[in-house]
Amino acid sequence: MADNILIAIAWPYANAEIHVGNITGSHLPGDIVARYHRLQGNKVLVVSGTDSHGTPVTLAADREGKPVEEVYKKYHDGFLELFQGFGITYDLFTTTHTENHFKVSQAIFLALKENGFMFTQKSLQWYSPSAKRFLPDRYVEGTCYICGFDGARSDQCDNCGNVLEPEKLKNPRSKEGGALELRETEHFYLDLSKLEPDVKRFLEERSPHLRDTVIGESLRKVEAEGLKPRPITRDLDWG
Ligand SMILES: [Zn+2]
Repeated sequence: MADNILIAIAWPYANAEIHVGNITGSHLPGDIVARYHRLQGNKVLVVSGTDSHGTPVTLAADREGKPVEEVYKKYHDGFLELFQGFGITYDLFTTTHTENHFKVSQAIFLALKENGFMFTQKSLQWYSPSAKRFLPDRYVEGTCYICGFDGARSDQCDNCGNVLEPEKLKNPRSKEGGALELRETEHFYLDLSKLEPDVKRFLEERSPHLRDTVIGESLRKVEAEGLKPRPITRDLDWG
């Protein structure tokens, strides 16, 4: 009997030209697996798309001086043309800016909230008095307070891989220029600590099929550091 095979390939941000790693690292391997299963006679569904939300995309729009909607569409169309030019076969290549995505995201949000996996908490975030708005995540860069790397983003450090608390960032600088100050804001947090036992069990069960590097970055990290609540809302108009 034919199996149903879902292949969900990682969605790149629609914020810059694609690089070869996007193709060799995720889209090409996904396509190879899809073709194998089609030859086996299985029913294959390949879904991917572009992430048109978040600060990577709004920053690209600021940089180009264009509306966000125009910028994400330009990169989205470019990605699809390029991937199809490589012969990669999607059943659906969509974006996060669709009615369907809004509906599904909101349903997941409400289900998490109703089942006790979310709470609200106040924290300090960087704020631009001249622009009269908060500057989350990549809008602010500075020195990592854990490893000392100077190009850390306010929410994470790509050098040491740690998630950062924005208010602890050293030498904070706005990507837009201008002064910064810390102001209090309130957000929804996903209580990942409640999911820790399930996540651990999920990874342990699959560990015979995972490479050491993957286990090191997932299961071993969860065992060593635990899972901590993370804010999943932002002070942004887009997305
Ligand atoms: Zn760091």
